[in-house]
Parts: sequence; structure tokens; C-alpha cells
Amino acid sequence: MNAYTLVRQSEVYLASTFSYIDAVASYNTSKILHAFEHHEVSERHLSYSTGYGYNDDGRDTLDAVFAEVFDAEAAFVRPHIVSGTHAITIGLFGLLRPGDTLLSVTGMPYDTLKGTIFGKGQGSLADFGIKYRDVEMANSEKSPFDLAAIESILREDDSVKVVYAQKSKGYSLRPSLQSHDFEQLVRLVKSIRREVYVVVDNCYGEFTEYREPPNYGVDLVIGSLIKNPGGGIAESGGYIAGTKKAVELASYRLTTPGIGAEVGASLGATRNIFKGLSIAAHVTAQSLKTAALFACAYDALGYEVSPKHNDYRSDIVQTITFGDPDKLIRFVQAVQSASFIDSQVKPVPSPMPGYDCDIIMASGSFTLGSSIEISADAPLREPYAVYVQGATTYEAGRCCVEKTLENEVFDED
Ligand SMILES: *Cc1c(COP(=O)(O)O)cnc(C)c1O
Repeated sequence: MNAYTLVRQSEVYLASTFSYIDAVASYNTSKILHAFEHHEVSERHLSYSTGYGYNDDGRDTLDAVFAEVFDAEAAFVRPHIVSGTHAITIGLFGLLRPGDTLLSVTGMPYDTLKGTIFGKGQGSLADFGIKYRDVEMANSEKSPFDLAAIESILREDDSVKVVYAQKSKGYSLRPSLQSHDFEQLVRLVKSIRREVYVVVDNCYGEFTEYREPPNYGVDLVIGSLIKNPGGGIAESGGYIAGTKKAVELASYRLTTPGIGAEVGASLGATRNIFKGLSIAAHVTAQSLKTAALFACAYDALGYEVSPKHNDYRSDIVQTITFGDPDKLIRFVQAVQSASFIDSQVKPVPSPMPGYDCDIIMASGSFTLGSSIEISADAPLREPYAVYVQGATTYEAGRCCVEKTLENEVFDED
């Protein structure tokens, strides 16, 4: 069998998975379109603002559209939020005060947040006397969360102000959360102390499901525009959406106390953020289909994949475990060679701050570092697993899958 045949065969198996992904994309696209209609997004909203950005109607309308799309009361979306980590940092500093505790209920948060939480001497949460605790996930039949442990901490420690969860598995080997998983968590937290905020790192999770976390009472969802909600078009930025109160508090860390989200020049970014959002549900579906194709083909070859091709998906990340450094490196290099930009570059493993081993990455993207465009990351350590995500079109994703498969040895029959 050759790579082409394996891809064709996988697509036959994937017919019902693909039609489910398309149905979710149709639903979310109609929700997004409806939000544009409802807020009467107009030509004038796409214009450039400068200076303080007073009366930037486009910015305010974009905020309102995002709020509606995320089933939230309020939101802000800004090109000057430099990354997902920055957006999450704004949210956490907005809600937490000295003496409060941040309780993570999905174990240790994403690597890049370590500086925000624990950093020394740079104004981290720890520097401001904000404590940190965490609970590992239970992944039992009853709940992905260890609800008993969370309950006992909330009852015994009244300094907990934020309960924090990461929806996507990110670069770990646990299952990703689904939006409805937050229903039970929110109910438990609010039944013990109403004033505790539930905050969700939504990176990679947007538009993969019919519902977003605020549908289930989450106070804040936070994400990056160079992932799902930017549709591969937004060139930088992040968003925060949630309850009016929590979004307002976060907005005072976005700019300054007293000013909040009322100012900020868009410098022309609004057009591409709207444009990206208009296709974001579709683009997310392209990434989901590409991930499912990777899963199906590599499963057929005997590799461990997570999720499996027909598993429910609530983020765009696909893991393939190679168990061998050379295969892993060849895979990442093949992903790079199937990228629109920098296809001639050969990535090699190299050290990265915050990691205890070398990392190899493929990211040949129009927007630097974008991971809604096809990209792959892998730490060079056991079990030699790669995290691959993105593809702005399924057709390009499919080419990439085929190219990586050409590395595998095939017997012609
Ligand atoms: C990408 C990501 C982040 C951080 O975003 P950056 O833009 O890389 O700073 C945080 N959490 C998860 C789950 C992510 O996927």
C-alpha cells in the first residue's frame, strides 16, 4: 500500500466523522453569522483608528460580536494582546488580589504560564502574594475533575478566588475537556462559594463543539487569535469573554484601572479579526478533519494515536506516539516540508526555555507561530509523541498527511 491509497482508505472510514464535524461547523458558522447580523457589522466598523481610539465603533462592535458568539455577557478582543499566555495573564491579574489563591483543577497549567504564576522578581502572581494550589484530574466515569478533592479544598481554604481549568490537553497526554464538563464543576464551585470565579483556558477548543464553556456558567473563557477563533486571518491578538463583572475586572488589567476596554486604537486590525471570525468555524473544521485523518492513517499503521479517528473531539490537537526519536524527527520535518511557507527549512531538535529536553517544531505559517495553520511540536523524550494541529484547508492538511506517510515503509502489493 502507498501513502495515497492509505489516505483514500482512511477517508472512507472517516465519512461519518467528517459529516459530524461539518454539522458542528455549520451550526457555529450560523451562530457567528447571526451575531454579525444582530450587531449590524458594517463597512464603517472595518476602519482604522489611531491614538486613544475613542469612539472606535468597530472595536466595540467586535467585542459585542465575540460576546455573543461565546454565549457570554461581555468580551474584549484586542490585536495588542500578544499571545494566549498574555490573555490568560490579563484575566488572572484582573480577578486575583494579594492573599487570594488560584486553584488549578486540571493539574499544572500550560508551560508558558509558569512565569505568570511562579516567576520571581518580575511581578508574577507569587510576587504579589497570590498563592497557587492544584488538583490533578480524576478522569473517572463520573467526571474528568476530582470533584471530591476540589470540594474539600474549597470548604477548607476560603482564600480560593479563582478555579482554573485548561480545556485542551495542550501538550500532555490526558483527554481534553468538553464544554459540558464545566456544568458540574461550576455547580459545585458556586454551591460552596458564589463569589469564586471559574476561568477556562479555551485555547484550541473554540468552535470544535456545539457549545462553548460560558454556556455552562463559566465566568471567563480566554484564547488566542492565532489559533481557532482567528480563522488563520487575524494576524495577532487574544480575547476574553464571560460575565460582565469578570470581563470588566479583566479589562482594568488590559489597560488601566478606571479606563478598561473603552480605549485602544485598532490600528486597522479590526477588519482581519472580523474576517477571520467569519470563517473560524469552517477553518476549525478543516483542522479537525486533518487531525482525524492523521489519527486514522497512523492507527492503521499500528501507532498509538490520541484521540482515535472516531473519538469525540473538543480541541484540534492530535497526538501520535512514535516511540522512536528518528521517526518523530522525520515526521516533524515532513510536516514542515508540506507547509506553504518555509517548506525548504529542515527543523532540528533544539533546547527551549522552560523544557528539560530538546524540542522540535514545524511551523511554516503566514502568521508567525500560528498554530491554526498546520504545525507540529514534539519534545525529544519518551514516549516520543508528536502534537500536530491546524490546517486552514482540509486539502492542504491532506497533502501534509500524505507527505508524512511517505516516510513510512510500504510494501507494494
Ligand atoms: C497555545 C496555548 C496557550 C498559550 O498560548 P500562547 O499563544 O502560546 O502564549 C495556553 N494554553 C493552551 C491550552 C494553549 O494551547
